[in-house]
Amino acid sequence: MNLKSERRGIHVDQSELLCKKGCGYYGNPAWQGFCSKCWREEYHKARQKQIQEDWELAERLQREEEEAYASSQSTQGAQSLTFSKFEEKKTNEKTRKVTTVKKFFTASSRAGAKKAEIQEAKAPSPSINRQASIETDRVSKEFIEFLKTYHKPGQDIYKQCKLFLDTMNHKRDLSIEEQSECAQDFYQNVADKLQTRWKVPPEKVEKAMDQIEKYIMTRQYKYVFCPETTDDEKKDLAVQKRIRALHWVTPQMLCVPVNEEIPEVSDMVVKAITDIIEMDSKRVPRDKLACITKCSKHIFNAIKITKNEPASADDFLPTLIYIVLKGNPPRLQSNIQYITRFCNPSRLMTGEDGYYFTNLCCAVAFIEKLDAQSLNLSQEDFDRFMTGQTSPKKQESDSFSPDVCLGVKQMCKSLDLLSQLNERQERIVSEAKKLEKDLIDWTDGITKEVEDIVEKYPLEIKPKSQALAAIDSENVENDKLPPPLQPQVYAG
Ligand SMILES: [Zn+2]
Repeated sequence: MNLKSERRGIHVDQSELLCKKGCGYYGNPAWQGFCSKCWREEYHKARQKQIQEDWELAERLQREEEEAYASSQSTQGAQSLTFSKFEEKKTNEKTRKVTTVKKFFTASSRAGAKKAEIQEAKAPSPSINRQASIETDRVSKEFIEFLKTYHKPGQDIYKQCKLFLDTMNHKRDLSIEEQSECAQDFYQNVADKLQTRWKVPPEKVEKAMDQIEKYIMTRQYKYVFCPETTDDEKKDLAVQKRIRALHWVTPQMLCVPVNEEIPEVSDMVVKAITDIIEMDSKRVPRDKLACITKCSKHIFNAIKITKNEPASADDFLPTLIYIVLKGNPPRLQSNIQYITRFCNPSRLMTGEDGYYFTNLCCAVAFIEKLDAQSLNLSQEDFDRFMTGQTSPKKQESDSFSPDVCLGVKQMCKSLDLLSQLNERQERIVSEAKKLEKDLIDWTDGITKEVEDIVEKYPLEIKPKSQALAAIDSENVENDKLPPPLQPQVYAG
């Protein structure tokens, strides 16, 4: 894995994680880049304007209706005309999310009916319900035990919480944003009272706030988590589908500095995925945040072991994206929205929980807009992978599907090595055969060359007689010698 490769797509400047108003707290995409505090200020302004407009509309409608009624004594059709106009305007209002007008005109009996509807729809199965109510009882008992250590303020805290829960029960037909605002107001009021009225020491305030959140949100959860009045569920499905479509993304493409071949690292990756999936099973926003923080710490460890040095923030976000892609956590958007709406805001604005949560929101935003460039791919490759025409795994045989366990990976690697060895051996044998043939050819060649030369220059042995005569002829004293003996035949 090339850890030094250029990171083109995924980079977030740390300042981008902060509130865009520059107050120094962590911002969040759900609050349009503001921190919880600034967002509420902005939201408040917008809402005040909306309420003002709604009032004006309501007043105008009433005026019109009265005028119409006054003149309708003679003309019968006028009233129904105005009424239909009113109905039309009311429908328009509904699409504008703010339900203030609806509140004015809604009969209180409808609210009750709706509440029952929600409860019914939210009841998945009797056994889960029973389990939830056991947990609610346990949390209540723990809360009361905890409050006992606060003596008199403890009773007041309990009363405030009860009052809040009762109020919320009567506000079920409000939009989720308005319910969220009630919760945020409650957190703020209680925190203020803890400090100023009940004089609880600062170190105990935070602990008390955590317990209060646990108590109220365990009870609120089934009404305000992924409510039907929102498009949270639709968003969940969209993210889930998107993550599934991106199943082919490899750590290399995201420049993730995590080497899963190191068993310790792969262990950390598995733990991080488990943590982020576990988030959905928690009911208290803070418990959900704790899962994100645990997951993030495992990621930091995985990077640290791989790189042999502490992880940087630049390493963290791509790795978090990778973990989210690998884990495809259930109801991701609902969980993020729920935390944003109902967590004690001071937890999201500062501290490590806030930091990791903001990063998770960023990771999801990145996943939604991940493109060829951010994955260091060409547009053609990206399109082909997205449409499933081909997969990068076919191109790189050494990358495995994310779900293959370590043992299988090792085995595949060994098999791969064996086949490489086999290939090499075959090559050696064929080289040796070639060498043998070359030697034979060489011997043959030499023999032939020698033969050719012998043929071209044959060995001639010339007759010696003439030469001897010549030697004799030069012998001047030849004639002094006796004549050679002549063979004679003897009779006898
Ligand atoms: Zn701010």
